[in-house]
Amino acid sequence: MEKYAGFAKFLEYGAEHAYPEGWQDNQYANPDAVRVMTVHQAKGMQWPVVFVPALLKNRFPSKKPGGRTVWHLLPRAGVKGQARFEGTIEDERRLFYVAMTRSQKFLHVTWGPVPGNSHAQRASEFWTDILASSWVKRRPSDYTGRKRLAPSPRAGVANVVFSFSDLKYFFECPYQFKLRILYGFNAPIHEALGYGKSLHDALAEVHARAIRGEVPGDDEVGRLVKTHLHTPYAYPSLRAQLEAAAERVLGHYLHDNRELFDKIEFSEKNVEINLGDGITVNGRIDLVRRIDTDQTYIVDLKSSDRVQPEQVTEAQLHVYALGYRELTGRRPDFVEVYELDERKRKPRSVDDEFIGDVKVNVRNAADALRRSELPPAPAPKKCKDCDYKGLCSARAHS
Ligand code: SF4
Repeated sequence: MEKYAGFAKFLEYGAEHAYPEGWQDNQYANPDAVRVMTVHQAKGMQWPVVFVPALLKNRFPSKKPGGRTVWHLLPRAGVKGQARFEGTIEDERRLFYVAMTRSQKFLHVTWGPVPGNSHAQRASEFWTDILASSWVKRRPSDYTGRKRLAPSPRAGVANVVFSFSDLKYFFECPYQFKLRILYGFNAPIHEALGYGKSLHDALAEVHARAIRGEVPGDDEVGRLVKTHLHTPYAYPSLRAQLEAAAERVLGHYLHDNRELFDKIEFSEKNVEINLGDGITVNGRIDLVRRIDTDQTYIVDLKSSDRVQPEQVTEAQLHVYALGYRELTGRRPDFVEVYELDERKRKPRSVDDEFIGDVKVNVRNAADALRRSELPPAPAPKKCKDCDYKGLCSARAHS
């Protein structure tokens, strides 16, 4: 029952922003290397040479749903027209079309029986279908007569679209950015994972309601935490601690900020900054406050698990200040870090010179990415906290 309730809450409050269109795409990744991926991940991309291996019956198209042992959260009977969501042979055929058309020049399609697997002994029906085409070569091509060219990497990315969350990794260490964003190494999972995001989601609900003129009462703190706190890796005692911490932080926030709730201009506002030369930065501002003196504050809410170097936070807020200006045509007056745990506001006036420096740094980051120059930038403290210290030979030792 709890699982269903959790799933329903996720659909109601989290799903809309959890998996935006193309969330797994990585528009930067254009390495001079072979890339291995699923057909779904390859959508929208093309390469001169593409391999579709293991074109086996029961694999592609996959075995009929009736024979699969897939666990479904919702019982089949509970979803109208459920067969449509399990995929049909025509869906698989469309997917195969996607796979084939990723190739700009050469497409290699292969299959072979898998020893010891009785379900993987025969070719896929798609294999038979494509062999009917007169455009398909059945024998290996003989390229021996051709002049061999020196291999050269493909041209780099033309347009660079950074999200600020990606960019901050670049500012911290370009090599870390490479490991995390380009190579896709996942950071180790911390048991408290999800706490900061949950707190952020709860505050987003508070602000959205405040904009509508409904200020949540103190008695709603428990409900807000129950609705938003999602910490799938926390063991029971940690979960209890996180729940208590979230209730404390939210309670304090409501108490300390109630008189400012009618001053909120935007909450969770997406901004996009076009820096020219095909370089765009996008991000989301936590909060924009406009006080009675008509001064505007761009606010970033920080919990202790979102710790990042002060310089990076400064850069982030100034990028947002720039985004606010592009969005509204008005210059914001202050950028402010709101420390949720310490209950402290740290405002500072918007520094146009600093904005200029940030623009230069973003352009340099885009150029480095285009040239694939992402060197390590070791420093003892940074490397000590780095998720990739175990992989990085340039790591600085403290
Ligand atoms: S260990 Fe240091 S140098 Fe290596 S990726 Fe991390 S921050 Fe960069």
